[in-house]
Amino acid sequence: MPGFEFFGAEERKEVNDVLETGILMRYGFDAMRNNQWKAKELEKAIQDTFQVQHAQLTSSGTTALSTAMAVMGVGYGDEVIMPTFTFVASFEAIIAAGAIPVLVDVDETLCLDPKAVEAAITPKTKMVMPVHMCGSMAQMDELMAICEKHDLLLLEDACQAIGGSFNGQKLGTIGHGGTFSFDFVKTITCGEGGAFLTNNKEFYTHADHYTDHGHDHIGTDRGAESHPFLGYNFRISELHAAVGLAQIRKLDSILATQRKHNAIIKAALQKVEGISFRHIPDPQGDNASFLSFFLPTEDLARAAHKALLSNGLGGNFYWYDNNWHYIKKWDHLKNATSLFPLNPALVDAIKNTDFNAFQQSDKIIGRTISSLINLNWTEEQAHERAEKMAQTIASVL
Ligand SMILES: *Cc1c(COP(=O)(O)O)cnc(C)c1O
Repeated sequence: MPGFEFFGAEERKEVNDVLETGILMRYGFDAMRNNQWKAKELEKAIQDTFQVQHAQLTSSGTTALSTAMAVMGVGYGDEVIMPTFTFVASFEAIIAAGAIPVLVDVDETLCLDPKAVEAAITPKTKMVMPVHMCGSMAQMDELMAICEKHDLLLLEDACQAIGGSFNGQKLGTIGHGGTFSFDFVKTITCGEGGAFLTNNKEFYTHADHYTDHGHDHIGTDRGAESHPFLGYNFRISELHAAVGLAQIRKLDSILATQRKHNAIIKAALQKVEGISFRHIPDPQGDNASFLSFFLPTEDLARAAHKALLSNGLGGNFYWYDNNWHYIKKWDHLKNATSLFPLNPALVDAIKNTDFNAFQQSDKIIGRTISSLINLNWTEEQAHERAEKMAQTIASVL
C-alpha cells in the first residue's frame, strides 16, 4: 500500500518548485507564485486519472469525509449506514456532522453486506457509506440499487482503495461522492492530504467553498470574496500537493508492483489446505495493497498471526484485536466519550445499540488476516516471503 516506498527525485523536484516561490498557500498570491499551482494541478491529475468530473483536495481523508457530509447535506439527526470494519474516521466524520452512525455487518467481501444495509434503513437514513477496505471493493451494484430504491445518497470511502475499480469504474467515482486519503501509509501519499471526488457540480462547488471557510473564490483578490455559507479550513498546502503530484504519476507502477507481489503471496498460500480468500466482487479491480485471507477458526487465525509475527513476518494484520479498525475495541464510540456535549439523539442511539449483535462480522473478522504488500521487495524476496508465510501457517493448521 505505501507509495512512500517509491519516493525519489520526482517528489523532491515538485516540492522544490514550491519552496523556490515561497508560496505555500494553494490560493491567491497570484503575482508571486511564478505560476506554480500544485494543488490545482493535482486536482486536474485526479480528474484525468480516475475519470471523474470534479476533485477537491482536502487536508486529510478524514476531512474529505467531513466535506462530503457537509456538501451532501448530512447533518443533525440524519442516520448514515457504515460498516463494523473500517477505520475510526468513518464514525468520526458522521458524528462531527451531528449525524448518527448506524453500524451494520460486513460479509466475506470485508465490506458492507447489502442485506444488512437494507435491513438497517429507517425513515431517518440519508446516506450509505461503503468502505472499500484493504484495497478491494464493496458490492457496488447491489449497494447502488438499494440507494436508488430508497432514495439515499451513497458515499464511497475509497481511502484505502486508490486505483481500484469495479466493472471498469474507478472506486470513489461510482457513488454520489467518494473520498481518498493521501496520509503517509496510503497507496499514494502527500504526507497528509485527501480528496473528495464527485460528478455532481453543485457538490463540488460547495466543497470548493466549504473547505476554505466558505470563501467563494470569485475574482483574484481574496479580500473581495464573499461567504455564501459557513465553512471550515480543510485546505491542503502546496507542499503536500507537490508530493502528491509526483506520487500520482507513479500510480500505475505502484499498482503493477502491488499486483505482481500480491499474486506471488497468493499462489503460495493457495497451496495450504485450510486457507481461503476474501471474496472480491471484481478481482481485476483489486488494487492489491493487501492480501486478505481466512483461517478456519478464530483460534487458528490467532495462532497463525502469532506464528507469523514470531517468525519475523511483520506486516500481517489481525484486525479483530485492533482498536483502530474493528468495532469490538471502539470503546470511545461505545461509551460516547466526548470532550463536549453531543447531540442527544446520537447519545440515545449509541446507548440503544447492541454492540454484541454483530455476530456475522465477528465470525468473519475473527478469522481474517490481511497481509500488507510491499513495493520494495525484489521478486525473489516476495517468493521467499510467500514460502515462509505458507510454511508458518501450515505449521499451526
Ligand atoms: C486512512 C483512512 C481514512 C482517513 O484518512 P486520513 O487521511 O488518515 O485522515 C478514512 N477511511 C479509511 C478507510 C482509511 O483507511
